[in-house]
Amino acid sequence: MFKYQCLTPDYMYDDIFAIDLQVLKQQKIVYLLFDIDNTLTEWNAPEVSGRTKEWFNKVRQQGFICCLISNNKGNRAKTVAAQLNIGYISDAAKPFSRGFIKAFKLLNAMPKQTAIIGDQLFTDIWGGNRQGITTILVKQIGPKEHWGTRNIFRRGERLISKKIDTNYREKKGSV
Ligand SMILES: [Mg+2]
Repeated sequence: MFKYQCLTPDYMYDDIFAIDLQVLKQQKIVYLLFDIDNTLTEWNAPEVSGRTKEWFNKVRQQGFICCLISNNKGNRAKTVAAQLNIGYISDAAKPFSRGFIKAFKLLNAMPKQTAIIGDQLFTDIWGGNRQGITTILVKQIGPKEHWGTRNIFRRGERLISKKIDTNYREKKGSV
């Protein structure tokens, strides 16, 4: 059996714009939880780009219901959420359950119909897999990060990246 299955995403894309929304619809996904830093914006960047705002409009027009789920403890999620006009969960403590459960409640979402989109294996993907939701990994937008992310989590990601790629290919091959 695979090792590190809990860290292996269901889908991988270069960025949010590359996500195949039709595939998500086929999987009966309705609710989308988004990480913020390095998924929607560069780390700690205050502004959401026009392209990202337009993409969110398209996503919502297609019937998806979205919210943000961030480990940031401050006002960051609120600031970004206001620009996208969607709900948010701050201080989510991914990969632990707390923030996910709050997000399910906020959206009145069934885990089976929910996906998380994020750039980190040890927070977004592990957390999502623990909840049994669909997990979507995107590449980090920029090089800037929280020091803990850079020095601990990314180092861990590099160590297991080959295994994750192999798992992912096997998972896709078995669909
Ligand atoms: Mg992130």
